[in-house]
Amino acid sequence: MSDQGSEKVRVIVRVRPFNAVEEKEGSKRCVTVNKARNEILVAGEGAEKKQFTFDGVYDEGSQQIDLYNEAVRPIVSSVLEGYNGTVFAYGQTGAGKTFTMEGKDSPKELRGITFNSFNHIFETIADYSVQKNFIATVTMVEIYNEEIRDLIGNSRNKLELKEEGKNGFVIKGANTPNVSSTKDLDRIINIGRSNRSVAATRMNETSSRSHCLILLQVESHEVGEDGEPRNVRSGKLNLVDLAGSERAKKTGATGDKLKEGALINQSLSTLGAVISALVQARTHVPYRNSKLTRLLQDSLGGNTKTVMVANISPADYNLDETISTLRYANRAKQI
Ligand code: ADP
Ligand code: MG
Repeated sequence: MSDQGSEKVRVIVRVRPFNAVEEKEGSKRCVTVNKARNEILVAGEGAEKKQFTFDGVYDEGSQQIDLYNEAVRPIVSSVLEGYNGTVFAYGQTGAGKTFTMEGKDSPKELRGITFNSFNHIFETIADYSVQKNFIATVTMVEIYNEEIRDLIGNSRNKLELKEEGKNGFVIKGANTPNVSSTKDLDRIINIGRSNRSVAATRMNETSSRSHCLILLQVESHEVGEDGEPRNVRSGKLNLVDLAGSERAKKTGATGDKLKEGALINQSLSTLGAVISALVQARTHVPYRNSKLTRLLQDSLGGNTKTVMVANISPADYNLDETISTLRYANRAKQI
């Protein structure tokens, strides 16, 4: 693996605790975490033992803030210096993606990557307020069936991507309010979240079938003695709660459901192929094969940093999906 690749794309795995149903039904553990060796061992009844190594592994006792400090803080720091960075949560529905990204509002220790990033950004902005001016704006969209929809505001407008030079694509016509504090940003994100679930219920779909993206643009400049801005920098942080990676049931999926499953699989496999191409420093990176990767083109590769958090269940009931998640994660990392 090239040093460059391994530095810029990191893949970590997080195992969630057993849930109440798994406890009640006496599900067996099939996942072991070896923190010291960054290894995940999977051993189900009748199944072959499999071992995987990642850039970081987190067991069910791991704290939100530790995962943030180890895996995400460096990305947010570089965004504040004018680079782009992306965090993905990948895994089957129920594996802990939203817990990792959003967490719980209280107690504070349960707050996830989104809140911890916001806090980090606005604390840094406050620290530098004498030397630098910062402007932060936020966009929140979901991608469902290859359609991008605005989650801020009431319109839930369908949005298009517009190609913009070699920087890739920008979203046309999205609401992008300015934000000046963690509280401010939290309020807007909560509006986006409720728009997402209301719309999902109305359309008889679940939010697990769509990708949810929070895009935070942070610009900064100093003011020279002549009063002109200098050292202008602009970085973007992309926080992505991906659609559930479970395969659509082989039976029963027809018409719209079949199409939906095919599009999700295509965008997740394109994402895997893009990350794998970047890790291997290949010249052709297939960004164009999905809206998700097109939208994130300027934040994947080049001088950007990416972390993928693959979320898994510890229970043997989910063995097949867990192995498929670990394979995907492994492929994203491996040369
Ligand atoms: P997903 O977004 O992947 O569908 P969720 O994040 O909603 O999954 O997780 C499913 C359930 O498990 C939720 O009730 C969530 O609070 C809980 N959960 C997930 N990960 C953890 C964790 N690391 N610690 C405690 N609870 C968790
Ligand atoms: Mg979720």
